[in-house]
Amino acid sequence: MTPLLSVRNLQVSYPTGGLLARLRGQGELKIVAGVDFDLARGETLALVGESGSGKTTLARAVAGLGGTVSGQIGFDGAPLSAKGRQIRRDIAFIFQDAVSSLSPRFTVRALLREPFAIHSLPCPEGEVERLLTLVGLPAALAERRPHELSGGQARRVGVARALALKPRLVIADEPTAGLDVSVQSEVLNLLNDLRVRLGLSLLIITHNLNIVRHVADRMAIMYLGRFVETGATAPVFARPRHPYTAALLSANPIIDPEARRARLHLEGEVPSLTQRPQGCEFHSRCPFARDLCRQTPPPRVTQGDVSYTCHFPIEALRHD
Ligand code: SF4
Repeated sequence: MTPLLSVRNLQVSYPTGGLLARLRGQGELKIVAGVDFDLARGETLALVGESGSGKTTLARAVAGLGGTVSGQIGFDGAPLSAKGRQIRRDIAFIFQDAVSSLSPRFTVRALLREPFAIHSLPCPEGEVERLLTLVGLPAALAERRPHELSGGQARRVGVARALALKPRLVIADEPTAGLDVSVQSEVLNLLNDLRVRLGLSLLIITHNLNIVRHVADRMAIMYLGRFVETGATAPVFARPRHPYTAALLSANPIIDPEARRARLHLEGEVPSLTQRPQGCEFHSRCPFARDLCRQTPPPRVTQGDVSYTCHFPIEALRHD
């Protein structure tokens, strides 16, 4: 079956430096440096990585929200660019900071009617109440303003707004950031429940591996704008191949015993995007780096449900 979203060799750059640098062709910083992935209908994919890994830039580019983009993005079997304004309805973005993404001047009712107004569509009678019910909020909240909502309620209003135009893909940027732990699982359960009930595909951006484990079918680990490991969530958690994946799992308090065996700690800082390391771009932080790593970029290797880019994956090291 054709995937809902198909991304090939996606590269995303942003202007940097002054006008002179840009005129000389030196003023573009490549933040996403060539990624490939598919997202099936009804599937949840988590993009994982530290701050600055490029995951939000990648997701915003897919939603048409910025950056100089090259490569191919296909949606429902056709190039995204051929979809016109319809794509703005098919792909919804839930922003990270729920409260500040809701204008304080408007009531919840006005905020939920706004997507219809933006697309010059009539907002059906009772639609605001339907959307509030869909996300588990009482209809009485419609007359409140964002500052009168709790963090969890604001997040739910953000979800309701994203669902107003019946999208097929929802992109959620750090959907539980800033929420209490008890509210975090409520929001995750809500997203998962809506995915099943409405047949949505979800692309979740997060650095929180508990979220990934809770809701994602598949995960992609990003480092310096590239995927270093991708695969079905369970096998990646059970047996990370890439040292960066293993280090991220090690840093997580709730990991399974298999991952704990490969406990690793990340040293040093993420290198600058303006000075990408030669060879494997992770070598400056990798405890297993050898001469080959410093000289030659590793190839992508696929084993079953998992693929990774590493000369000396964890499994091979265990048997050295
Ligand atoms: Fe580490 Fe080498 Fe693998 Fe890069 S290729 S992650 S430096 S072992």
